Amino acid sequence: MEELKACIASTMKSENHWGETVPISWRNLEKWILKTEAQSRNIYPFSDLLRDVQNANDVGIDNEEDLRSALTFLHETGVILCSSDKKSSIILNVQWFVDAFNCIKMDETHNTIKDQNNFKDFDELHNHGILSKKLLVELWRTSNFYENKRSLIYHMRELDMLVELSEEMWYVPCMNKQQYSCEMLENCNISSTLCFLFEFLPFVIYHRLVVSCITNLGMKPWKSKKRMNIFHTVTILCCKDKNHRVLIGICENKEQMDSDYPYSLEIQTNVTKPRQIDNRKTLKLKTRIYQILNELTLVFSSSKNKNPFRVGYRCQIKPFSITSEDSIIKEEDMSASQIDCHRCYPVHVMDGASILCFWQVIIIFIFISRAISLKECTLATFKFYSWKVTKMHAF
Ligand SMILES: [Zn+2]
Repeated sequence: MEELKACIASTMKSENHWGETVPISWRNLEKWILKTEAQSRNIYPFSDLLRDVQNANDVGIDNEEDLRSALTFLHETGVILCSSDKKSSIILNVQWFVDAFNCIKMDETHNTIKDQNNFKDFDELHNHGILSKKLLVELWRTSNFYENKRSLIYHMRELDMLVELSEEMWYVPCMNKQQYSCEMLENCNISSTLCFLFEFLPFVIYHRLVVSCITNLGMKPWKSKKRMNIFHTVTILCCKDKNHRVLIGICENKEQMDSDYPYSLEIQTNVTKPRQIDNRKTLKLKTRIYQILNELTLVFSSSKNKNPFRVGYRCQIKPFSITSEDSIIKEEDMSASQIDCHRCYPVHVMDGASILCFWQVIIIFIFISRAISLKECTLATFKFYSWKVTKMHAF
């Protein structure tokens, strides 16, 4: 218990706001306005709050900028939910917001809602995480949630708890129970597998990465046989160019269990044969996903003074599999040459250049000296090589 107490104390002290001096008006706002108002309402439009705060002399906040700063502080300390968007409302009652989401996160207690009119929508959400407007009306009917739908959905999207697929349809990642099979990539050219390695990895980070790729990178779920290829631990998304697709998987790696980073988020690009992967795409993708993960894991890095994840690669280029026994090699241990992979049993040759060329800019002479890996390289590199060969023949 002593150790637990010490751990809680040190965790609290490592919080961003610990020891920070804040204006007394922020405390007034929390106590006087929000605690009182939260008893009678769950949502407060920003413009109304600004007006009421300005009229209330005891709070000590008289302009929009100060109110925004105070609200941001209260949001970060978990008292309320707000966003920087001026048009959005403020959620005063966080528990009420959580209750609204719990209605969507269906379990057996929701079976009473299931009937012949909604069983298809019900199963879509329960099995695939696809929420229709029709079902949402029923799930939120018994409370005042549906009348506040706009604000609730807005904040759920802001927190990456769901993603809007259309005006009448949402994807709720935590409800998806579908299993992925690597056979679906049989007719595809694939990249090597980029891995982001974690000491510990809450499942929600995987969901939030998927949602962020859809919302911020303009990707869309890949459909085959009219079904979206979104599974429990794997998601395949189509890039904006409609040729490239990105597989995002989450793994617990038994063979890496002795390592400090046994959990991984894995990224693999694929295109339909005979198309070839454009490495400029994969390179950009790595940068963007790295940025997203940095933002999503900020909360981990604030408590410890180190990056919460490392970068690595699977030692062989194969269609992604959740049961893969291939080793993950950390980026700093990779080289663009052919070396024996002793981490795997039986031993095999690991072609570093073919693995890295999707995710790193590699000095061009490596490819020139090893023409065999060229088929995996970018068109630009290929053209350069052809030009070089032509010139050499000319000489
Ligand atoms: Zn290996």
